[in-house]
Amino acid sequence: MNKTKSKPLGLTAKILLGMAIGIIFGLLLRNMFPANEIVKEYITDGFLHVIGTIFISSLKMLVVPLVFISLVCGTCSLSEPSKLGRLGSKTIGFYLFTTVIALSFAIMAAVVIQPGNASLTSTENLQYVAKEAPSLSEVIINIIPTNPIEAMTQGNMLQIIIFAVIFGFAIAHIGERGKRVAQLFDDLNEVIMRVVTLVMQLAPYGVAALMAKLALTLGLDTFGSVIKYFLVVLVMLLFHGLVVYPVLLKLFSGLNPLLFIRKMRDVQLFAFSTASSNATLPITMEATEHRLGVDNKISSFVLPLGATINMDGTAIMQGVATVFIAQVFGIELTITDYFMVVITATLASIGTAGVPGVGLIMLAMVLNQVGLPVEGIALIIGVDRLLDMVRTAVNVTGDSVAAVIVAKSEGELNLDIYNDSQAGKVALSFDEQVHRPL
Ligand code: ASP
Repeated sequence: MNKTKSKPLGLTAKILLGMAIGIIFGLLLRNMFPANEIVKEYITDGFLHVIGTIFISSLKMLVVPLVFISLVCGTCSLSEPSKLGRLGSKTIGFYLFTTVIALSFAIMAAVVIQPGNASLTSTENLQYVAKEAPSLSEVIINIIPTNPIEAMTQGNMLQIIIFAVIFGFAIAHIGERGKRVAQLFDDLNEVIMRVVTLVMQLAPYGVAALMAKLALTLGLDTFGSVIKYFLVVLVMLLFHGLVVYPVLLKLFSGLNPLLFIRKMRDVQLFAFSTASSNATLPITMEATEHRLGVDNKISSFVLPLGATINMDGTAIMQGVATVFIAQVFGIELTITDYFMVVITATLASIGTAGVPGVGLIMLAMVLNQVGLPVEGIALIIGVDRLLDMVRTAVNVTGDSVAAVIVAKSEGELNLDIYNDSQAGKVALSFDEQVHRPL
């Protein structure tokens, strides 16, 4: 391979460039041809929509096979049931712990700053028809798949996780024949990981199209009166991502958080532009294993579970939104109400699927629980898309923090990889990716 060739731009730089070009292109077009039908039909809903959707679809295409194959691999290498149980309780315990911290800070900030008291002129014309949120018992029953193939076709992550764990566990317990199957799954895992790196090459173009479409449809006027709410959520999301997580990482694992933040950049950009933890999952897994050095045994369990139940960013939005809506409608919340908000928002964030916009639907459940008007959601819907992008970046960061901490505590973290700032960096050209030996 020709080493004298000029160094290709790193993936992060390409994605950032794609973002910037997309935003500028979108805003220019919006200003040059305001409300133009042709632009809408052929560019916004045509070209940009096609490119953006192809990018997201190619990520989503990988999620189900990746989660299933990788989790089967992970579980069959964790043959002792006690280890699996320990891993499960550590992971879920950590997820709940960070969500409660996120909510407590978010609610405190909203109570102190009072974003809803700048009072919005009128709440009379609000219209929001709440989509039905599932009941708690339904959420619990639905964990067990009646048909694993159906769970896969519908992308029901929790059901796929349960089936894969049972399947992997069985492989580990049938002796020699199990070893052959385990080897096959290991090989399949390599193949699917390679597909992930190939799809990542599409990111700069996909991201440019998504950003351009967003800039064309949203514009800046959406903000208006809810700007204070928007800023409180944004600051709390940044605080959680840039302060709380690094502190927890240092406290629980003693690792250098700056390296972690630097290595998570690509993943966060993917999460930001797709607004979907699920669609980002292949990238999160690739970075957590190859850049941060977490063993596949741990990442294949912790990350899909996190993309399904760990949504700290979503919980922050739900906490601030609840307090904001109460303030706008002049409803006093008691200490018990705040406590209820923490509990229901934790459950709501667990029940939130890792796809765009679901956090807002689940907010209805929290509002109902404390007797607040669900129509209040209409107030914040306009700015939710942008917040969704940021909170998804926080959500996936939380999953990787958990993976690193759990892996370190289980002795499954490769410190050489973690401490090497260049490890696993995807800066190869498409051609080099295709021809790179396994
Ligand atoms: N879009 C978020 C995610 O995928 C979920 C949400 O808050 O709507 O993580």
